[in-house]
Amino acid sequence: MIASVLPTYNRAPLHFVKGEGSWLIAADGRRYLDMGSGIAVNALGHAHPALVDALTSQAQNLWHVSNLYEIPQQQTLADKLVDLTFADTVFFTNSGTEACELAVKMARKYHYEQGNPEKVEIITFDGAFHGRSSAGIAASGGDKMVKGFGPILPGFVKLAFGDIDGITNAITEETAAILIEPIQGEGGIRQLPDADLKVLRQICDAYGILLILDEVQCGVGRTGKLFAHEWAGITPDIMMVAKGIGGGFPLGAVLATQEAASGMVAGTHGSTYGGNPLGCAVGNVVIDHVADDAFLAEVQRKSGLLRQKLEGLLAEHPDVFEDIRGAGLMIGLKCKVANTDFVQAAYDCELVTVPAGDNVIRLLPALNITDADITEAVTRLDAAAQKINAA
Ligand SMILES: *Cc1c(COP(=O)(O)O)cnc(C)c1O
Repeated sequence: MIASVLPTYNRAPLHFVKGEGSWLIAADGRRYLDMGSGIAVNALGHAHPALVDALTSQAQNLWHVSNLYEIPQQQTLADKLVDLTFADTVFFTNSGTEACELAVKMARKYHYEQGNPEKVEIITFDGAFHGRSSAGIAASGGDKMVKGFGPILPGFVKLAFGDIDGITNAITEETAAILIEPIQGEGGIRQLPDADLKVLRQICDAYGILLILDEVQCGVGRTGKLFAHEWAGITPDIMMVAKGIGGGFPLGAVLATQEAASGMVAGTHGSTYGGNPLGCAVGNVVIDHVADDAFLAEVQRKSGLLRQKLEGLLAEHPDVFEDIRGAGLMIGLKCKVANTDFVQAAYDCELVTVPAGDNVIRLLPALNITDADITEAVTRLDAAAQKINAA
């Protein structure tokens, strides 16, 4: 008989009942150090007092009204994001997948309104992950995600990740946009060099196509800047955001320039829940914390500390780990053992990590993790590596 919860997940037999900062407490009382943050979601850790306060005080007043009415919390959050980024305008969603949907629609509508309705094609890359909707799987395109779900939404062209030279050959009269993660998350913490991002920007400008960045995982402070593309000194036309921005409350956003968003007039898009008072009350507090220069400088310092310790770990366990990759507090360890075996060994050492493609384990701690917890995490990674070797 089929499970009462649709069996699409491979769940670990772990049952957490409470979170405190970078720690998760299981039903049996065991304390796990959380280096996964619910896949880069709990940006400020678990039960951050300012987030608990924002959520509970909003909950006592008003949860939801619909976008038929003004939502001051949403207006405030949009104003902040416009102030802090390249964007002139913001649409709020509940998830990264929905942000992908709008990003694709917006790019196509832009060209349509420019008198180029043939420009519908989006160039994407191997190993990408943009969500699980029909557009999301067409954009991501991994066999497991796509097979059996046809007809697959047309209009996506896939290149090898980082195949910058291939792009100009792939561009046709029908190309609308390039869609890419500055650092692939699910694909195995694969980072696009800053120089390549710059080239992508130049190509988009030269051909009159839009650059869409998916910063659902690498954005909101994860790399030590508010958004990852800032390292390259370029800006996109459209950007997808989710995960960290809600700190654990389902919230996403599409940020865009006035030009790219110019086709999206009243009635062309909407959402029942997106940007509701509860979500935006929390999102405002997340952004206030993360957009602070001192906070971002701390993320960079902690990244340096963690990486330095991980270099030591690699030197100790050359038979377990192959390399360290990523940026900020979005770090991947490529494994020589099966990454899922390592994640299991880490659970046995009361440490939570997240597997990714390319046989990588991801470390995505809370951005405000303490130095002591960083040290403890590496101690537990070491214990897990010893356990794997002994097995
Ligand atoms: C998680 C993720 C998504 C999808 O977000 P959901 O909130 O799961 O819909 C899209 N893009 C990237 C890069 C992601 O990491």
